[in-house]
Amino acid sequence: MTSLLFNPSDYDPRHFDAETRRLLRATIDWFEQRGKRTLVEKYHAKEFHADFLEFAAKENLFATLLTPAADAKGDPDKRWDTARVAALSEILGFYGLSYWYPWQVTILGLGPVWQSANPAARERAAKLLADGGVCAFGLSEKDHGADIYATDMVLTPDGEGGYRATGGKYYIGNGNVAGVVSVFGRIEGVEGPDAYVFFVADSRHENYHLVKNVVPSQIFVSEFRLEDYPVTADDILHTGPAAFDAALNTVNVGKFNLCFGGIGIAEHAFYEAITHAHNRILYGHPVTDFPHVKAQFVDAYARLVGSKLFCDRAVDYFRSANPDDRRYLLFNPVTKMKATTEAEKIIALLTEVVAAKSFEADSYLTVAATDIRGLPKLEGTVAVNLALILKFMPNYLFAPTEYPPVPTRHDAADDEFLFRQGPARGLGKVQFHDWREAYRTFVHVPNVERFALQAEGLAELLMTAPPSAEQQKDLDFLLTLGELFTLVVYGQLILEQAELTGVDPLVLDQIFDTFVRDFSGYAVALHGKPSTTLPQQQWAVGQIRKPVVDAERFAHVWSQVESLSGAYEMRP
Ligand SMILES: Cc1cc2nc3c(=O)[nH]c(=O)nc-3n(C[C@H](O)[C@H](O)[C@H](O)COP(=O)(O)OP(=O)(O)OC[C@H]3O[C@@H](n4cnc5c(N)ncnc54)[C@H](O)[C@@H]3O)c2cc1C
Repeated sequence: MTSLLFNPSDYDPRHFDAETRRLLRATIDWFEQRGKRTLVEKYHAKEFHADFLEFAAKENLFATLLTPAADAKGDPDKRWDTARVAALSEILGFYGLSYWYPWQVTILGLGPVWQSANPAARERAAKLLADGGVCAFGLSEKDHGADIYATDMVLTPDGEGGYRATGGKYYIGNGNVAGVVSVFGRIEGVEGPDAYVFFVADSRHENYHLVKNVVPSQIFVSEFRLEDYPVTADDILHTGPAAFDAALNTVNVGKFNLCFGGIGIAEHAFYEAITHAHNRILYGHPVTDFPHVKAQFVDAYARLVGSKLFCDRAVDYFRSANPDDRRYLLFNPVTKMKATTEAEKIIALLTEVVAAKSFEADSYLTVAATDIRGLPKLEGTVAVNLALILKFMPNYLFAPTEYPPVPTRHDAADDEFLFRQGPARGLGKVQFHDWREAYRTFVHVPNVERFALQAEGLAELLMTAPPSAEQQKDLDFLLTLGELFTLVVYGQLILEQAELTGVDPLVLDQIFDTFVRDFSGYAVALHGKPSTTLPQQQWAVGQIRKPVVDAERFAHVWSQVESLSGAYEMRP
């Protein structure tokens, strides 16, 4: 059986071109040759990942994968191809968030640049990448968190057509080394949204002051200040409402990588956990003989495979997006909040099993257990993304429309639409293809059928006992409703990917076993909310379903899990 999980030992992504395959392989080989001891020692020593940046520069890794075709000066290997960006995100996550993060914030830093029509700024960024440099995204400020409208980075006109920028930024990754720092601010003397501006700064400029690393970590998440920093026309990326759209559209592109980072972390942790537990003998038996341990591993495996299926399918919608097909705007926050919280659950299950091993200085699990909690919180918390997801719910459930089929997108296309997404508003108007189709295709899989009934139940709740005007203002109530809805969307794309790739129906059944239980759990949570009405409470109780039990199916999935013991171990 081919493993459904990424395994560095036999990784061979034949769907990519030769140079992409070479780069991905070279990255894996770099980590493997460096070895696990070095990986974890540097992590615990909080040693900045300068050696990784050197490797990336030498191989042209970021330049090749992050320069759009329009800025590639004819280099046939350079393009922005979400499928290979996702593949590298997974590989880097596999070896640790410390290596995924500088890549991720380079992507974010490039977002406002590749969306800009300023040729000088684009050329500078392309050259910086070609020279092995990295970028940063300067949006957050110490006092304002998610409230990006309230920026205190102020640009004052200098009387000669340029500006002087003064203000601080906080939590800015790569802010210690980036040659292109995309900074969000506002222009002094201009009122409202017209004041917004995105411009480029350089961390090496004398008016750029690095204050500190905000986090105690291998990564550098900077606080910096600009004092009277000169900003010329060549540095201005966007002004007015377009600057705000550029911020949101950049996060749209960037936050898509968080799910793949989380999947990579969970995969590495999985190999380590199953190999440890399966070979540890307690009372004369392997730890994996305990029924609860088997159940935890099977649950973690089902969640991990489910997450991979969803995120891989979401790549296709990302790459096929256009002004008339903005379905990716729903699937993206689902990757962000759902796939990353699933990764957290997987690590929680694995560390529950291995217990002390996940505290040891030489375990990857120790690193994973610490880092995994970052993904659901960064670039928009779970709550922020759920609030976004809810905007799509009415049209998704009740107003399906026809679209041409979206095939698997592994072709070597340049995803240029991502940098001309247009205004970020109008989410409630986006329409979807009929979600019921995917569920109908797999109605023969017992737990898909059972979960589909729960999904129908959600539609029924919204028709018969919808949230009142009061409840529609109560985010605490709505977020639980959002969790129920998210599961329906999550299941749909998993089924689509299962059909495209021919996933083992027994594994699929096990995945939906977890969803039937999760849906029941969220229904109970809704039942307990202070404002839930009697009909809503009755509905919630009616949604508590037991998954279809099948001992043979469980044994079959367990045998897949068991086969992963010893299937991969990082070179010491
Ligand atoms: C390791 C790390 C790296 C980072 N890297 C970068 C970077 O490179 N560049 C950058 O610009 N920023 C970066 N950030 C900042 C990060 O994106 C912040 O977490 C973000 O700005 C939100 O701020 P906050 O976490 O302080 O939460 P707050 O904004 O203070 O939110 C507090 C609470 O309010 C809730 N909330 C806020 N708004 C809403 C809403 N609209 N709907 C529902 N609930 C809401 C949140 O869910 C949260 O629970 C980084 C942060 C960290 C920790």
